[in-house]
Amino acid sequence: MTNTDLIIIGGGAAGFMAGVNAGERKIRTVILERCPKPGRKLLMCGNNRCNITSALPVREMLIDFGDPVAPFLEPALTAFPPSALREWCHKNGLVTKMQRDKRVYPASEKASDVHHLFTDLLAKYNIGIMLNSAVHKIIPLQTGEWLVKTDSVELTSRALLLATGGVSYPKTGSVGDGQKMAAALGHKVTPYRPGLAGFDMPPAWIAANPMRSIPNVVLKIMVGGKAVATTEGFLEIEKYGIGGPAVTNASRIIARRDLKNYSFEVDMNGKKWTLNPLRVRPLKEAMVTVGGVALNEVDSRTMESKKVPGLFFAGEILDIDGPSGGYNLQAAFSTARLAMDAIAKRLR
Ligand SMILES: Cc1cc2nc3c(=O)[nH]c(=O)nc-3n(C[C@H](O)[C@H](O)[C@H](O)COP(=O)(O)OP(=O)(O)OC[C@H]3O[C@@H](n4cnc5c(N)ncnc54)[C@H](O)[C@@H]3O)c2cc1C
Repeated sequence: MTNTDLIIIGGGAAGFMAGVNAGERKIRTVILERCPKPGRKLLMCGNNRCNITSALPVREMLIDFGDPVAPFLEPALTAFPPSALREWCHKNGLVTKMQRDKRVYPASEKASDVHHLFTDLLAKYNIGIMLNSAVHKIIPLQTGEWLVKTDSVELTSRALLLATGGVSYPKTGSVGDGQKMAAALGHKVTPYRPGLAGFDMPPAWIAANPMRSIPNVVLKIMVGGKAVATTEGFLEIEKYGIGGPAVTNASRIIARRDLKNYSFEVDMNGKKWTLNPLRVRPLKEAMVTVGGVALNEVDSRTMESKKVPGLFFAGEILDIDGPSGGYNLQAAFSTARLAMDAIAKRLR
């Protein structure tokens, strides 16, 4: 049986950042990834351009994350803010650029360059990724170590980081395995809902509105004749209905506040529309999952489980989600770095 210091379950954005940071700290680490290729969702990010973060100040990002995510994320975002991420990228050879709307992308606008950044650094630090290795069981041993089982191997480690992602876009490998393993150890998992998703519109509306992209939209979410929240940005008319950041950000607010019987009042440079969407698109099409490992059972200063010592979390497996604009990758990277600070201390 292979023994190592740290096992990271999940080779996505959070697992990549944690793995590279383990390498920087010379911690013996293995990443286990269920897919034949790691980082599939990262490659899809920002329409393959990868909106890695935002150039907004942390305090503004936290306002946008909103409750209950913001208070939980504050220590992670403060310790490793977007400025530190960009500096880290530049130091490691990935030049980034900021758009006028504060979205930050690699200068090449290629998600594959971000993917290479991580896989090259993992190789440089000799951090192995075992592919086609879906973990199905994690067992805390009496020695304080962990036993981790896939169908073909069993490994032990001194620390364990769960970074298996949310449940949207399951073809990328994020299918909720980590949440199930955490639940088996006594963790509460909050219900899943689509985070950044479009909405179906009635067929007659779709027939009357050709597909197009409308910039600078202000969208009010209306409940009982009152505006309860406002979003801004592009609205895309899609073949199923409506999408684009102004709309998908509304889906996240609706999910978080559990709003019912809502409509949208949309202002497009003075032209007004009232939209009555039929329903939100399914979770498998959402860009982020609302719901996951409950935040009150995880220490936000260390990302360690309050229930199972030595079990750490990072990324979308947690009940964290943010708006469109680089917030979700930043959250994955920051929680991974904070978890690694605590793991390094524990291993010392
Ligand atoms: C289409 C799309 C576009 C997006 N664009 C952006 C963007 O531009 N900017 C932004 O900030 N966010 C974006 N997001 C959101 C962002 O991609 C996620 O929030 C982020 O990838 C979460 O990182 P993670 O490491 O927590 O999870 P993931 O990236 O999903 O990684 C989890 C990994 O764990 C592996 N895994 C799961 N179960 C097991 C198991 N049992 N054993 C071993 N491995 C396992 C999975 O195969 C996967 O590789 C986008 C999402 C989508 C779907």
